[in-house]
Amino acid sequence: MEKIDQIQKKRVAVIGYGGMGGWHTKYLLKSDVAELAGIWDIKEDRRALAAERGIFVYDSFDAVLADPTVDILTLAVPNELHMPMAVTAMEAGKNVISEKPVTMSSDDLSKMIDASVRTGKLFTTHQNRRWDCDYLMMKQVYASGMLGEVFGIESRVQGSRGIPGDWRGKKEHGGGMILDWGVHLIDQMLGIVYDRKVEKVYCRCDHITNYEVDDGFKLDLYFEKDLTARIEVGTSHFISLPRYYMTGENGSALIRDWTDDCRIVACKNWDEKNVVPVVTAAGLTKTMAPRDQETIAESSISRPESDVHDFYRNVCLAIDGKAEQIVTHAQLMRVMKIMEAAFRSDELGMPVVIDDEIC
Ligand code: NAD
Repeated sequence: MEKIDQIQKKRVAVIGYGGMGGWHTKYLLKSDVAELAGIWDIKEDRRALAAERGIFVYDSFDAVLADPTVDILTLAVPNELHMPMAVTAMEAGKNVISEKPVTMSSDDLSKMIDASVRTGKLFTTHQNRRWDCDYLMMKQVYASGMLGEVFGIESRVQGSRGIPGDWRGKKEHGGGMILDWGVHLIDQMLGIVYDRKVEKVYCRCDHITNYEVDDGFKLDLYFEKDLTARIEVGTSHFISLPRYYMTGENGSALIRDWTDDCRIVACKNWDEKNVVPVVTAAGLTKTMAPRDQETIAESSISRPESDVHDFYRNVCLAIDGKAEQIVTHAQLMRVMKIMEAAFRSDELGMPVVIDDEIC
């Protein structure tokens, strides 16, 4: 990232020292643009663990806010706490990174954005999966136009362990897979299809191991100009379908797994002479038979260089007014409105038309 040498190192306090708080502190301890001021967690055992690891532990959330050396608060607490803590922190003069999902409703998000505008403090969300290589490759394929007009994209993550038994299973804490993996995959899809609006959504939620919140879902986003994107998250799948699939009028692209390159098959000759039919019990099919190798061109895109720590670098530059923040308020609101439409669609059992300008 450009201009790193111009960044004034920022001091960051991490609120919540659980799984993700642990990730942030580890990163901040070796960051080139920020340093760890300390942590605050309501649980004594988490505070004790941090102290054991040599991390400074604040006495309270208020003590963090009162520390004039702290520039940024990173909120790594359960989802229902993001909005009140972010607003309080900005009012106290701190910049705020909220973990994803930014919050649980567009009304709450408006309060956070208003606080940022009112106080002039930076407010953003850790959409770290914008640095995932699978996403970056799909973004490249779409933007290149190499598949011709794209009409279908599928993005999936499927596990087999249900959802964790902690706050993620409870509605009041913002549990469920739409607010967990969904927010990442929707954000990615809107990053890939950068040039079209979403007109309609249809969503069906699963309740296989959890009845209170969704433990998986199938969400279809109907973009303008006839592009449909399927986003699917499952937690009871023992064989996983591919991570990403994209298809257009001239070719298809596939990423099978987290660590795979992107495979592309494009048509180079529509004039097929010798189609070998597939024999099925019901008869022969040429329509669905594989293409012969003479008519297609295979290529691949390798996983690009990507450094998720560019997120903090961007935040620090943006605080100093030297860069635009990468994860913007408008993007956060667009994803939030789509998640709200997905919940409504599941409730109604039918597609929901989106007429919001932002989507
Ligand atoms: P966790 O349960 O492991 O940790 C949450 C911590 O917050 C706990 O230690 C808990 O004691 C603490 N806490 C709860 N209430 C608090 C309060 N009022 N004040 C201070 N501390 C409090 O959860 P997690 O997996 O770390 O998730 C935290 C956040 O990070 C969630 O919003 C989650 O969605 C997000 N997350 C993001 C990613 C990502 O890839 N960006 C991955 C995992 C989690």
